[in-house]
Amino acid sequence: MGDSPKDKHNPNPDLLQSDKLRKYILECSVFPREAEALKEIRNATASHPLGFMEMHPDAGQLMGLVLNLLNAKKTIEIGVFTGYSLLLTALNIPHHGKIIAMDPDREAYEIGLPSIKKAGVEHKIEFIESPALPILDSLLEDTNNEVSFDFAFVDADKDNYWNYHERLLKLIKIGGIIIYDNTLWGGMVAWPEEEVPAIKRPFREAVLSFNKAISDDCRIEIALASIGDGFTICRRCL
Ligand code: SAM
Ligand code: CA
Repeated sequence: MGDSPKDKHNPNPDLLQSDKLRKYILECSVFPREAEALKEIRNATASHPLGFMEMHPDAGQLMGLVLNLLNAKKTIEIGVFTGYSLLLTALNIPHHGKIIAMDPDREAYEIGLPSIKKAGVEHKIEFIESPALPILDSLLEDTNNEVSFDFAFVDADKDNYWNYHERLLKLIKIGGIIIYDNTLWGGMVAWPEEEVPAIKRPFREAVLSFNKAISDDCRIEIALASIGDGFTICRRCL
């Protein structure tokens, strides 16, 4: 699923070729260890018309591991939706940790909010109902914010990923991590352009040019992991 033109109508792109393997990974490794509050958000999102936008739980498990390896305390999230990745981050940073989360859609955030409250981690979250760029710019107006964040997760409008990247590189510490989601775009990055549905071409173009730019960026180390819909993990090294 997700890697051939015949799958172009798949609403929830996923790169794994085998449903059985996906089921195995989720049932063996991910769901048994997934926090109850995360399961609740998944269930609450399942009937949402845009529910396919939710983070893939196997990618979430990898992100939790990265947050713990990094001992992340201060983080940024761009693109919250119903809050799966936000709650996952909140559960994997310490009690005094902090997440600045940005999304213009408060209504979607409020779907997951009861589960976030129930998990006892709401105090770690500052949700800002806004597009992310002006918020990042206002953070950068205060020099105390420069080089002060451990981690950022970007899962929003793909055509702004490079704009986010330039700003996040000023905010993240050297050694800090930025993860960009959907960087394999259902496998379409590798399809011949004429086989990509016209409606998806602009997004694919945005992802292709971001992937090229990030590959050329010597300020970071990168790994483009083929998990979920493609997860580009960047470590700031300069
Ligand atoms: N990370 C979420 C999760 O774990 O379920 C999924 C995020 S969803 C793929 C993308 C989100 O990006 C939507 O909720 C949308 O409102 C938000 N978004 C779109 N444009 C944005 C922007 N300019 N700034 C911040 N968020 C934006
Ligand atoms: Ca995503």
